[in-house]
Amino acid sequence: MLRQALLVASRSDGARKVMETAPFTGDVVRRFIAGETIEDAAHVTGELTGEGLLVSLDVLGEDTHDKDRAEANVTHYVELLERLGAAGLGARAEVSLKLSAIGQTFDADLALENARRICGAARSASTTVTIDMEEHTTVDHTLGVVQELRRDFPDVGAVVQAYLRRAEEHCAELAYEGSRVRLCKGAYAAPAAVAFTDKEEVDRSYVRCMKVLMAGKGYPMLATHDPRLIEIASALTVLNERDAGTFEYQMLYGVRPEEQRRLAAQGAQVRVYVAYGREWYQYFMRRLAERPANLRFFMRSLVGR
Ligand code: FAD
Repeated sequence: MLRQALLVASRSDGARKVMETAPFTGDVVRRFIAGETIEDAAHVTGELTGEGLLVSLDVLGEDTHDKDRAEANVTHYVELLERLGAAGLGARAEVSLKLSAIGQTFDADLALENARRICGAARSASTTVTIDMEEHTTVDHTLGVVQELRRDFPDVGAVVQAYLRRAEEHCAELAYEGSRVRLCKGAYAAPAAVAFTDKEEVDRSYVRCMKVLMAGKGYPMLATHDPRLIEIASALTVLNERDAGTFEYQMLYGVRPEEQRRLAAQGAQVRVYVAYGREWYQYFMRRLAERPANLRFFMRSLVGR
């Protein structure tokens, strides 16, 4: 119930405007958001990669409704990638991209064209792009864009949300040689007609998907903080005789940082998803929805400001 309410609130434009324009620097927000500028992002990337972790950078600014904002987001990604390339970080840091940030909501062709530009900039910086998965209504279009992009940029990453009833099917289609696939549980509100709504069912779907990806020929990117799933992943690497270079774990900046370092110290590849930028509201609300316990700290920090 609370999760649903927080996800509904994450779509409220009114709340978003109030929250994002407030001079807000609360600790709870800063726990999940790495800063506001490219400098902040580069700084955090340098720190994490220095500790042996990999990074995926997400420029906040989803759900764009006009061409100028979409263009501003593309320009920002290109600048970020130039910065990563110049710093020689391309081998350890990629970018994550939401198609809704670059036009998907109002012009599907523009979104594809913009994604191509960002993929081109990523290639010049010797790195890659993963296309995040968003609302369930956009899944088919997003997978189509990934397929289209992969003609020219085969290393573009796809995302499968385990809460979708079709997730296993998506994994089977994507488990081919060279295919980078992030598996996550799914962070949006989705109706029972298309998604599992019971947590246990989502977890079971995640395991089925992981089995398909780990037995397949692609490069699985296991995005979860769930200790049980991480344990099963570890068993699957043995079962499928996968060495550490053939898959990676992924976790969010600010969530279970000790576990990120523990896995990396064991020799696993661990990528930290680092979101930054001024438009933090929707991303942050989804993090609250995942763990409503965070809400208490957030409310306290609002009262205290
Ligand atoms: P959960 O059962 O939610 O959590 C397991 C445990 O992890 C919890 O008990 C808690 O200890 C810890 N934990 C989890 N979340 C939090 C939190 N917010 N704060 C504090 N502790 C927490 N979703 C999409 O829909 N599309 C995407 O493209 C996408 N990309 C992602 C990329 C990465 C790298 C990651 C890690 C997640 C991504 N997600 C995406 C979000 C994902 O779908 C889940 O909502 C999120 O990861 C929480 O699920 P979980 O697997 O960690 O399991």
